Amino acid sequence: MEKNSKIYIAGHRGMVGSAIYRKLIEEGFTNIITRTSEELDLRDQQAVKDFFEHEKPEYVFLAAAKVGGIIANNTYRADFLYENLAIQNNVIHQSYVNEVKKLMFLGSSCIYPKLAPQPLREDYLLTGLLEETNEPYAIAKIAGIKMCDAYRAQYGCNFISVMPTNLYGYNDNYHPQNSHVLPALIRKFDEAKKSNTKEVVVWGSGSPMREFLFADDLADACYFLMQNYNEPNLINIGTGEDLTIKDLALLIKETVGFEGALVFDQSKPDGTPRKLMDVSKLHSLGWKHQIELEQGLKLTYQDYLNKI
Ligand code: GDP
Repeated sequence: MEKNSKIYIAGHRGMVGSAIYRKLIEEGFTNIITRTSEELDLRDQQAVKDFFEHEKPEYVFLAAAKVGGIIANNTYRADFLYENLAIQNNVIHQSYVNEVKKLMFLGSSCIYPKLAPQPLREDYLLTGLLEETNEPYAIAKIAGIKMCDAYRAQYGCNFISVMPTNLYGYNDNYHPQNSHVLPALIRKFDEAKKSNTKEVVVWGSGSPMREFLFADDLADACYFLMQNYNEPNLINIGTGEDLTIKDLALLIKETVGFEGALVFDQSKPDGTPRKLMDVSKLHSLGWKHQIELEQGLKLTYQDYLNKI
């Protein structure tokens, strides 16, 4: 990518897309194009076709997706499957038609089998059954990976797939029901602190393990891989370190300064027991995360406070 290359970031208002946008600006890129979802509905085939024909981007970061936490994924199963398939179908196909030089497709660690050995290596893809709660989302993301590979194999497109672990950071979604665990708990602890509530409810048993990567670190990795990675095979992006949901809750409790107790609501699903990324491939290329969870939580909590 040259500093004046025309780069389209799909999903630039989301947590991931906005982090990639900031990273590219910081690196001195001058020709970044974006569209809000009101300006361009990526599910609309004709609209995406017109946009690509008109703008002719040279590079594409596909960070637009319908995303959410365990309950959202499980409740809006049709929407997660349909909308994600439509978005990626339109953007990947038009990138081929309009001769995009390179496209990066962002997936998720939930594409791996529910009971795969840990840590999750890239070659565990499609070796077992998926976690039921987010199967529609995972199926869409797997289709996206296979689409990138197929367009590379049949048409020689340089389309790569990266699989980030659970992410958090600026511009996250703090919806009480539909968000992911980390922003959900920031909000719950903050509200409990301010209203002097004695308890905070944490869903599930607290024993599942999750890995968390700060979105600005992800953006840094995406930029690095956009320059250095040109293979058909997917590549994981994570820290390679995880913790239990209980320990995460305790860390957020401390960050927020809540002094009450935790209560576990076992009627809510646990989801996958563990999904720790194997990041040896990424490390061997020379990239490692910079922001540890404690520090990232402080930055994220501050961002949350600035926006409420
Ligand atoms: P997952 O990684 O796809 O399972 O998605 P989530 O980030 O939504 O949930 C991760 C884990 O955190 C699951 O075991 C949830 O049950 C647990 N969890 C605990 N409290 C909450 C909460 O308030 N919201 C969410 N979304 N998950 C929670």
